[in-house]
Amino acid sequence: MSATLLEGGPIAERIKQEVAEAVAALPEDQRPKLVAVMAGDNPGARAYAKMQAKAAQEVGIAYELAELPEDVTQGDMVGKIIELNRDPSVTGIILLVPVPPHLNARHIQQVIDPLKDVDGVNAANLGNVVRGNMEMAPCTAQSVMELVKASGLKLRGLECVMVGHSEIVGKPVALLLLEQFATVTVCHIGTSEAGMLEAHTKTGDLLIVAVGVPGLIKGSMIKPGAVVIDVGMNRVKDAEGKTKMVGDVVFEEAVEVASQITPVPGGVGPLTTAILLRNTMNALRLQKGI
Ligand code: NAP
Repeated sequence: MSATLLEGGPIAERIKQEVAEAVAALPEDQRPKLVAVMAGDNPGARAYAKMQAKAAQEVGIAYELAELPEDVTQGDMVGKIIELNRDPSVTGIILLVPVPPHLNARHIQQVIDPLKDVDGVNAANLGNVVRGNMEMAPCTAQSVMELVKASGLKLRGLECVMVGHSEIVGKPVALLLLEQFATVTVCHIGTSEAGMLEAHTKTGDLLIVAVGVPGLIKGSMIKPGAVVIDVGMNRVKDAEGKTKMVGDVVFEEAVEVASQITPVPGGVGPLTTAILLRNTMNALRLQKGI
C-alpha cells in the first residue's frame, strides 16, 4: 500500500469538540434544538436518527425525533414542517430520507425555513453555496471540503475532477472548489455514456467520486499521486455472502496509485453527522444574529 489514508474520524471528533464548547458557552435556555422528521419506518432513516441523536447528546444539542405514519399525506408533512418553523424552541429541522414513495422529499425540504435548514438542502442554502457561503451548505459537500483541507492540497489552479453532479454532493462541491480557484471538471452519466470518463479522471490531481456505483473508478483511471476522495457508500455481498460497505473506487487498486485516499467506511461517512451538528450551531447563530 502506498497511499496515506485520509480518515474522517479524527476531523469529526475535532468538529464535535468545537460544537460542544460553543454550546456549553450558551445559557441553558438558549441552546440549540434539532428536530428530525421521519415518515414511516425506513431502516436507513432510523439508523441515521439513532446516530444523530447520539452525536447531538454528546455535544449538548437537544434532539427530538418527530415520527409520522407511513401513510402521512404530503399536506400533513408540510404542515408539520410549518409547525416546527413557527416553534421558537426549535432551531434546526432535518427531513430524514428516504421518505415513502408517495411523498415529495424535495418539496418538503423546500418548506423548511432556510435559517433552520441544517441539512443545507433547500434552494436558499444551495443558492448561498453559489456565493461561496458554506455556513449552511449540504453536510456531505462540507465533509468533502474538510477532507480536501486535511489533505493539505493547495487548490488554486489545481486540476480537480468531480464525478457525480447531484444537488447535495457533486454540484455544491464543484462550486466550493471553484470558490478556491481550482480548475474543476464535473463528470456525470453523460460523460460515461460518451466514453470519456477515464480521459477526465486521469487528469485530476484531486479526484472526488460521488456516484453510487461500486467499482466505477479503477486504479488505471487515476492519475499517479492524486488525492482521491470516495463519497460512495454501497452495500455489496462479499465472497462469503456477507454484506459489506464499499465505495465507488476500487480501493485495493487506487491505494497503489494515489498519494492519499479516503477509506470506505471511515472517510466521508463519520464527518457528515459532525457537520450536521456544526450547521445546527451555525443556524442558531444566524437566527440570533450572534
Ligand atoms: P445521486 O443523487 O444518485 O447522484 C449520483 C450522480 O452520479 C449523478 O450525478 C449521476 O448522474 C452520476 N452517475 C450515475 N452513474 C454514473 C456513471 N456511470 N458515470 C458517471 N456518473 C454517474 O447520489 P448522491 O446522493 O450524490 O450520492 C452518491 C453516493 O454517495 C452514493 O453512494 C451515496 O450513498 C453516497 N453518499 C454518501 C454520504 C456519506 O455521508 N458518506 C452522503 C451522501 C451520499 P445523472 O444524475 O446524470 O444520472
